Amino acid sequence: MNRTILGFLWLALYLLVVLAPIGLMLVPPVPSGRSFWVELSVALGFVGLTQIGIQFVLIARFKPLTYPFGIDVVLKYHRQIAVVALLFVLVHPVLLLMEHPARVALLNPLGGTYASKFGLGAVLLLLALVATSIWRVRLRIPYETWRGLHTGLGVLALAFSQVHVSLAGLYINTLWKQILWLASSGILLSLIVYLRLVKPWLQKRRPWRVVGVRPEGGGTVNIDIEAVGHDGFRFHPGQFAWIKVGGSPYTLEEHPFSFASSAEQTTRLSFGVKALGDFSERMQQLEAGTTVYIDGPHGAFSIDRAQAPGYVFIAGGVGITPMMSFLTTLADRGDPRPILLIYSTNTESELAYSDEIEALKERLDLETVFVLDEPPHDWAAEEGQVTGELLDRRLPKERFVRRFFICGPSPMMQAVERALLDHGVPQSHIYLEEFALA
Ligand SMILES: Cc1cc2nc3c(=O)[nH]c(=O)nc-3n(C[C@H](O)[C@H](O)[C@H](O)COP(=O)(O)OP(=O)(O)OC[C@H]3O[C@@H](n4cnc5c(N)ncnc54)[C@H](O)[C@@H]3O)c2cc1C
Repeated sequence: MNRTILGFLWLALYLLVVLAPIGLMLVPPVPSGRSFWVELSVALGFVGLTQIGIQFVLIARFKPLTYPFGIDVVLKYHRQIAVVALLFVLVHPVLLLMEHPARVALLNPLGGTYASKFGLGAVLLLLALVATSIWRVRLRIPYETWRGLHTGLGVLALAFSQVHVSLAGLYINTLWKQILWLASSGILLSLIVYLRLVKPWLQKRRPWRVVGVRPEGGGTVNIDIEAVGHDGFRFHPGQFAWIKVGGSPYTLEEHPFSFASSAEQTTRLSFGVKALGDFSERMQQLEAGTTVYIDGPHGAFSIDRAQAPGYVFIAGGVGITPMMSFLTTLADRGDPRPILLIYSTNTESELAYSDEIEALKERLDLETVFVLDEPPHDWAAEEGQVTGELLDRRLPKERFVRRFFICGPSPMMQAVERALLDHGVPQSHIYLEEFALA
């Protein structure tokens, strides 16, 4: 199905599901004699709670759902909508208190009703969930610890909210409404089971094995893996996969890495890994024969989604990896279209895959521009950063019809995007890949 249509259908379904509990509220029997503010407070609480429930769907990495938007966009939405949902949930008790200040007694954890205790618990859990996500780095919570905490707090917050709604019993007040309500919670929790148990079980049946580890420039190590006893999978150049290393596919530790190899090879994959922390350091030290598990392909950053008469790839540092996938794929496809690769690093020794890029010129209409921040004294190519002036000099005349793919450090990507827009390149021709999802 066409991606745009599918995207609209998902958005329509999202709105329908978010508003469904309000419809359920209105199905008789409805409690009578309640003020507008109470009804509004309950409606907002339901909308917020449903949005929180849908958060479980958004992180389940369902390909039909992520296909129209890209998983990075879906995860960004997951982060941003969490704040909106929390606001709705917070407004729920605030409106109740404004209408009847004596209800403040319900906020006493030792007093109040069981319904209010669970409601209060849910709000506190949600506050903790959002705070630990927004301030994870400032709170110095390691990424993996945060992931476990995030799942735990999310499941608990959902369970507390569901108990709160069931105990309050004012709108979920018939057997069929209770059953519907519990079934929806069951479905959401089963998504966690799917992600943490079923998916790893499927991965265990399709293992991969490290067959080569070779240092590239700039502290980047290229890792080749091959499918063991299965036919691998198809991906689009520029996409990425979540990788788990070692004994068990049930580990919570998995990290995203872009494919660096040709999409025309489905049983042998390569990744270029730069050591930035624990996991990437361990990846760099992998030995041939080690088992790895792959969840993918994911992502919307691909030339296959942007047909054009030619391309400009702009990479900074380890952002070269998806570009390598673009280049090797285009070469394997015998693609004659012109390509400009602008690749910037700090020093010459940090340029990764430079020999491979040079060799690809034999098979592609490829022009390269290497840009070094700290060039050696005999450096003949570009110096400094990828600026608007450099782009103006180096971009081909037919720049307005080409598609631009940018991957690198965030400040560099922002500066390059700004410069391209200033040069009149349409926004719709520019594609960006962030290497930080959280
Ligand atoms: C779509 C995508 C493609 C990527 N492709 C590459 C690549 O080709 N080569 C490469 O070297 N790096 C790539 N990365 C970055 C790589 O995932 C991180 O460097 C790695 O996860 C860091 O983990 P760590 O334990 O080594 O370091 P940490 O110190 O734990 O993490 C450093 C930072 O990386 C991010 N990070 C850590 N774990 C995860 C995770 N599980 N999911 C998302 N983000 C995480 C966090 O922002 C964190 O602050 C990619 C990231 C994304 C999102």
